[in-house]
Amino acid sequence: MRPRQSSEKRPDAMNLRQSVKTLCPYLTKFKGRVFIALMALIGAKGATLLMPWALKEIIDSVDKSINPLLVIPALLLLMYGALRFASVFFGEIRDAVFSRVTEHAMRDIGLKVFKHLHSLELAFHLDRQTGGISRDIERGTSGLSFLMRFLMFNIVPTLFEILTVAIIFGTLFSVWFALITLLAVAIYITFTVVVTQWRNRFIREANAADNQSNTRAVDSLLNYETVKYFNNEQFEAKTYDTFLANWEKARLKNRMSLLALNSGQALIIACAITALMWLGSTEVVAGTLSIGELVMINAYMIQLFLPLNFLGFVYREIRRALTDLENMLGLLNKKPQITDALNAKELNISQGEITFNNVSFSYDTHRPILNNLSFSVKAGSKVAIVGASGAGKSSLARLLYRFYDVNAGEISIDNQAINSVTLNSLRKAIAIVPQDTVLFNTTIRENIAYGRPSASDAEIDEAIAMAHLKDFIATLDKGDKTLVGERGLKVSGGEKQRIAIARAILKKSHILIFDEATSALDSHSEQAILAAMREVASNHTSIVIAHRLSTITDADTIIVLKSGQIIEQGKHDELLTLAGEYARMWELQHKKQIVCDPS
Ligand code: ATP
Repeated sequence: MRPRQSSEKRPDAMNLRQSVKTLCPYLTKFKGRVFIALMALIGAKGATLLMPWALKEIIDSVDKSINPLLVIPALLLLMYGALRFASVFFGEIRDAVFSRVTEHAMRDIGLKVFKHLHSLELAFHLDRQTGGISRDIERGTSGLSFLMRFLMFNIVPTLFEILTVAIIFGTLFSVWFALITLLAVAIYITFTVVVTQWRNRFIREANAADNQSNTRAVDSLLNYETVKYFNNEQFEAKTYDTFLANWEKARLKNRMSLLALNSGQALIIACAITALMWLGSTEVVAGTLSIGELVMINAYMIQLFLPLNFLGFVYREIRRALTDLENMLGLLNKKPQITDALNAKELNISQGEITFNNVSFSYDTHRPILNNLSFSVKAGSKVAIVGASGAGKSSLARLLYRFYDVNAGEISIDNQAINSVTLNSLRKAIAIVPQDTVLFNTTIRENIAYGRPSASDAEIDEAIAMAHLKDFIATLDKGDKTLVGERGLKVSGGEKQRIAIARAILKKSHILIFDEATSALDSHSEQAILAAMREVASNHTSIVIAHRLSTITDADTIIVLKSGQIIEQGKHDELLTLAGEYARMWELQHKKQIVCDPS
């Protein structure tokens, strides 16, 4: 399997500045909340910074050598308790108030990506790997929330705290205390940044392996039936395990590099605290520092290195969040290829005449599918397209629906080129019953109503009746409230096709396309459906793609397609008299029918 592109380094890689630019609108949208959260942050940091000082005052006031008349420093003790509570309480307030901002941002960007994915063309969706993309979105949104919380509430306040502690040390004690602190912090930060950068590729590797194994698992479960048909459970498990083994290996590298980072950080912290305590103890012995002050220095250092220890983690996580966000925003940066033209107008459909004018098309440049094709479907008429498998019949429908754009030539409806009208108005005008109907995992009725969510109950019932679904629904315990299962696997192929037909009927479009819409039906249902299709199509322009020629003998025009070109065109009888490809196909199918059904 091809490695997922999302975890490779891409030229459109987002940097920190771009990420911050993405985050800023969410911060300005909730100014009030951001302000309260900042105030709570200042309150929490202020209380934290005052705690070691209160501790020093308490110790010194109970030190006989300084205060021979000992009394319990009640006020200071209460103050110490209050500060301790305030530092936690304000932190909680900050998180509670700010969570609305991050959650809203997650919702907003999640929706944006979802909408964007729907705006991307079919070609993208045929290439995509669902498992990997859903992982990218999941990680991207949590990355976004992480960045918002930690950039604002961790990195900047911690740097501020370091500076304040250095100033306190420098002014209250000798300049050496401040210097050792600043030097230790500088070494710590440099070490963390350098090692984290080195580690980043292991994080990327682990992400890529995670995506691959997830994609494989989703793909395999989606193809549950195929796996069973070929007894390939072992093969699937083995393939999945190969991906999991890659993931395990990548995670191991990740862990080992984390060990190097954490040990290095701990060593720097231990050296700094030892140096400071050494200096402090020397000064206590010399009488220039009180015990309270030594405890205060220790408390400040422990307090300082706690968030600093966290800073390493936060820096790593920010790098990871940036990579995750970059993957998700990379999806957002993908420009849709099939879009409305600059001055696209609404399609004004009066007759519903379709014209293909010298149309050429290929999915890949080296393999032409349609070659200089011209034909027209008169308003209200029924045109059938027949031809061998792979001749390009469904491609015609995809081009008309603008799932792809033509390479040359033009398709128009009522003399309006389809690429000059809005996609929405074009697609509203066309209802398709596709070759492979995939249903949503919901009820039969909801699946039909999907054709036009605003349709009334009576209209849905009418569509059900026209698609000959009534008898089938009557046999079900829960009637049209029956669930169809994942991708509609709990209803038969023929039932699925009839649901798709009902759905298309409900859409009430001017143009109808039936792409092998009756291929899965028995002859009896097929006749009934054909009658319904005739009825529906009577005042519509319709294109019917069919393999079974018996279903299209009544078409106004039959187009025979071969290797992307029209080789014959006319009514059924005319084509039979022509004694060409169509006549040959007809004869072949007729013979087959006689062999299969001699009666
Ligand atoms: P059938 O009767 O089997 O449905 P068809 O005539 O409808 O066949 P199309 O689906 O139009 O055939 O496909 C025409 C050719 O284009 C086929 O050879 C197919 O392999 C190729 N093709 C279809 N979709 C794509 C795609 N997304 N990318 C590349 N090639 C494609």
